[in-house]
Amino acid sequence: MTDRVIQLVQDNSRLIPLNFSAPGNSEVPAKDKHQRRLHDLRISVTDRCNFRCVYCMPKSIFDKDYQFLPHKDLLTFEEIESVARQFVALGVEKIRLTGGEPLLRKNIEILIERLAALRTPGNKPVEITLTTNGTLLRKKAQALKNAGLTRVTVSLDAIDDHTFKAMNDVDFSVDEVLDGIAAAHEAELGPIKVNMVVKGGMNDHQVLPMAKHFKNTPHILRFIEYMDVGSSNGWKMDEVVPSARIVNLIARELAPLKPADPNYVGEVAERWLYADGQGEIGVISSVTQAFCSDCSRIRLSTEGKLYTCLFASRGHDLKPLIRSGQSQAMIEEQMAKAIRNLWTVREDRYSEVRSAHTPQPRDRIEMSYIGG
Ligand code: SAM
Ligand code: SF4
Ligand code: SF4
Repeated sequence: MTDRVIQLVQDNSRLIPLNFSAPGNSEVPAKDKHQRRLHDLRISVTDRCNFRCVYCMPKSIFDKDYQFLPHKDLLTFEEIESVARQFVALGVEKIRLTGGEPLLRKNIEILIERLAALRTPGNKPVEITLTTNGTLLRKKAQALKNAGLTRVTVSLDAIDDHTFKAMNDVDFSVDEVLDGIAAAHEAELGPIKVNMVVKGGMNDHQVLPMAKHFKNTPHILRFIEYMDVGSSNGWKMDEVVPSARIVNLIARELAPLKPADPNYVGEVAERWLYADGQGEIGVISSVTQAFCSDCSRIRLSTEGKLYTCLFASRGHDLKPLIRSGQSQAMIEEQMAKAIRNLWTVREDRYSEVRSAHTPQPRDRIEMSYIGG
């Protein structure tokens, strides 16, 4: 049964022990086996969500009997801040809060305030961003800004209400998400990125209408290839719409596009500017064009497990150390060593070696568990 498969994520036999020995080098930023720097920390603050997107939390599995994490297993804000501080000391300059739906986590702005106070070894603030389905943005945007959030990414998979409702599967309307985007804009949480996962046969007819809607606005629409993440969404290669096809379609039917340089090494989206100066789009080609060679991301799960790749099935549990009862100084010293050691031996490059014909492990972590 597929729901049993998901529960395996919580199974401790699937954890890899952390190495607390003194690290071989003290370089900042820390580099992995392929010389990729540690730059980007993604923190999942909840595994719950008020949507049931068909490609992420299908209702057949995430139903009323599905066992989400009990509250006591979630890292507290103090614990998350302590982990994040070690990462920032090792070179992380960008933190993204995700989930599940991160705005469902109570008092999330208190966590943001704590993270926004962190400083890099060069005494620079850290960029704090958040990915949301937008449902609670009207209510929360200003508080998030006041707490120190840099900007938001909002997911929206269609501009047509019928299609969007079929995608989120909880009857949520496009207008409410657009109102959330407007609230984020008013609160100066821009430039706002709008993420659209394109699933062939379901919302691919929405590519042009979405592009038209967001052209000539300050928002950056990004098309994401539907990924084979997790084990519950029944992913099939023929439902992936290649980014190249999307770029060609928009350039042909809407307006010519010209490529733009990445904003930083390891940026996941390939950037395209409208040649008429009316804005920017991005494509994230996680399936058709692997970007592992620059991947500088590490993920912290809601309950304190570290994953060095989105497609990992085995995490590294920090919680026994965090809740070991030792002094905070001792915990943090060991945590810093363990994190550095973990990054130093990292070799992951799943997307580069993936093949539609390769049998896939059935116990990979779910997107709703680890975030995007
Ligand atoms: N709930 C928030 C949201 O939807 O923005 C944050 C968490 S969600 C897991 C993060 C991002 O992952 C969203 O943009 C979502 O569309 C994307 N996502 C989820 N499942 C995906 C899949 N199978 N392939 C590609 N993107 C996916
Ligand atoms: Fe929820 Fe985001 Fe997953 Fe949709 S993509 S089900 S909004 S976590
Ligand atoms: Fe990074 Fe893993 Fe994705 Fe490659 S497959 S880009 S290593 S998260």
